[in-house]
Amino acid sequence: MFEKPSVVVLDNLSEGVFAASGCWSGFVVNAQDWNGSHHVFEIHLTHSKEVEHISTACTITLLFTGVVTDVYTENNWSCTLNGNTVTLTRPSHANAYKSGDEVTYKVWAKSTDEASTKALSCSITSYDCSKQTNVQGGGADGN
Ligand SMILES: [Zn+2]
Repeated sequence: MFEKPSVVVLDNLSEGVFAASGCWSGFVVNAQDWNGSHHVFEIHLTHSKEVEHISTACTITLLFTGVVTDVYTENNWSCTLNGNTVTLTRPSHANAYKSGDEVTYKVWAKSTDEASTKALSCSITSYDCSKQTNVQGGGADGN
């Protein structure tokens, strides 16, 4: 009788955490202030091992501290610029069950001039997982 309510509480807590951040989580590393034209950032993303689906892409929103005039990613993945907000979609090759995939890629961003470009920093403000049901028939967990 005591065990069951405890499990329910933990489940609710986990769902709350995933709802807040999505099944992807991550952080940004400042790789290089100035490469001659752009500021270089490194995006680190990890997919939760707790959910049962295949992630086919991770879309994140990056919020920059200044205006961005040009931005691009490795392999020219989808990258939409709107003022100081950038939406990036990185296709994934995950094909494992509860894979816990880790992804690292670079983003190059430029502001109005050299000083503004060097001063840029950014953080990830949202994550969205594109997913498909795995071959074991999972993915029905709603995550
Ligand atoms: Zn996912």
